[in-house]
Amino acid sequence: MARPLVADIDLDALRHNYALARELAGESQALAVIKADAYGHGAVACARALESLPQGKRPPAFAVACLEEAETLRRGGIESPVVLLEGIFEADELSRVEALGLWVAVHSEWQVQALLAYRPAEPIPVWLKVDSGMHRLGFSPEHAPAVWERLAAATEQVAGLQLMSHFATADAVNSSYFSRQLACMQALSRRLGAALCLSNSPATLAWPDSHGAWVRPGVMLYGSDPLEQPSEVSRRLRPVMTLRSEIIAVRDLAVGEPVGYAGRWRAPRPSRIAVVACGYGDGYDRHAVDGTPVLVAGQRTGLAGKVSMDMLTVDITDIPEADIGTEVVLWGRSRHGAVLSVDEVARYCDTISYTLLTGILPRVPRCYS
Ligand code: PLP
Repeated sequence: MARPLVADIDLDALRHNYALARELAGESQALAVIKADAYGHGAVACARALESLPQGKRPPAFAVACLEEAETLRRGGIESPVVLLEGIFEADELSRVEALGLWVAVHSEWQVQALLAYRPAEPIPVWLKVDSGMHRLGFSPEHAPAVWERLAAATEQVAGLQLMSHFATADAVNSSYFSRQLACMQALSRRLGAALCLSNSPATLAWPDSHGAWVRPGVMLYGSDPLEQPSEVSRRLRPVMTLRSEIIAVRDLAVGEPVGYAGRWRAPRPSRIAVVACGYGDGYDRHAVDGTPVLVAGQRTGLAGKVSMDMLTVDITDIPEADIGTEVVLWGRSRHGAVLSVDEVARYCDTISYTLLTGILPRVPRCYS
């Protein structure tokens, strides 16, 4: 029998979540962010599933971080427009950008110069990235209009010019910083007559004023709710990945017996412990504390002891039917119907769903349905 750990990927749930993003976007276009191998779900399979939607209901474009990710999509037969959110990393990449029909963000002066020095057969769609407050990538709001004018004048090189920016606090319930970033971009858009692409998942879900010409959701497509306080709308998201395994051994322990490295967990009562095939060598977070929820035969219980490389241990004292071969869901939807959100697991690991999802390693087979 094969090792029982798999990441089941529910492509219907992905399509459902994308349809929700489109519904929220209204008149705005909703591209699909599928960087980092579609947040660990498999970029080509996810892009194919979304491209298979009927015309008008499928994403008009996909977004990835870099050229290599776009090349993977093209090799996988994805024909839709693909935007490189970080643009090129060296000038030589422009010929590949052109050959693959990609769109590029530009955030730095050297990228502008490389683009203006390039002679494409057809102009390349360009999104000018503005640093409205994230203070990572982009031109300052003061400098952006001059860059915009240079790019707009370069009609041989540049097509479909528009403005993009990224929010630092869109997940917060009440954020004056968010409002400041939005006001800054709206003012620039009015001044330049420019279309805007601003909204990540939390802004798509919770800030309709920010939607502009395009929204740019990522994590919500995979069923994770990025909002500090879930809303009626965000509760409609469906988990796409189920990290599913089985019990591979069972131990009966007397009171006080320790489990695992450093004996962090000790049996507070006569206990049954299940050993589950899933560890940090699969990408499950080693920071998960005792009590981190899992579903055993669809019933909630918790981790007991530190996560090892290839296995973890779970308290099944109150689940008498659990035995070798019983299903264990680390997050996602159990065959018994119960759901454990990756967002909840992330809180027990003092992290966010993004790191858990992107952290699942290649040794875990992805099974698509
Ligand atoms: N746009 C940019 C530039 C990003 O870096 C990201 C994610 O990191 C996204 C959009 C999507 O964000 P989210 O996954 O929160 O929707």
